[in-house]
Amino acid sequence: MNDSDNNSSAEVNVKVLYIEDNSANIKLMEDIFSEFLPYGFIYATNAKDGIALAKEHQPGLILMDINMEGMDGLEAFELLKSDTNLAAIPVYAISGDAMPDQIEKALALGFSDYISKPFNILHLIETIKQCLK
Ligand code: MN
Repeated sequence: MNDSDNNSSAEVNVKVLYIEDNSANIKLMEDIFSEFLPYGFIYATNAKDGIALAKEHQPGLILMDINMEGMDGLEAFELLKSDTNLAAIPVYAISGDAMPDQIEKALALGFSDYISKPFNILHLIETIKQCLK
């Protein structure tokens, strides 16, 4: 996480936080950001650390894995939304569970989008750009 990048584009000041307990998925997302997206990328491997990072960095978007050891993504989402300083940040669910009732449940809770794993990389990039433009 390098904040000393003196690129004049305002976009690099926008951070995206990925909360995910699978290191291969984090690596993939990190590669996607470094190759294709102009935003800062930060991550946490559990919900508790993720919420702490959200407080510290005020990301423009949070990508939330749903199935995690300990606190899951749904519980973490509710904590984020109950914090007045964090509630306005859009949160995308990222999940291997593509069952329609699971997707419906997450969207009804207030997730801004639901991205099923394995995700379509081009679609993911476009969705993130749309959200942050
Ligand atoms: Mn997981």
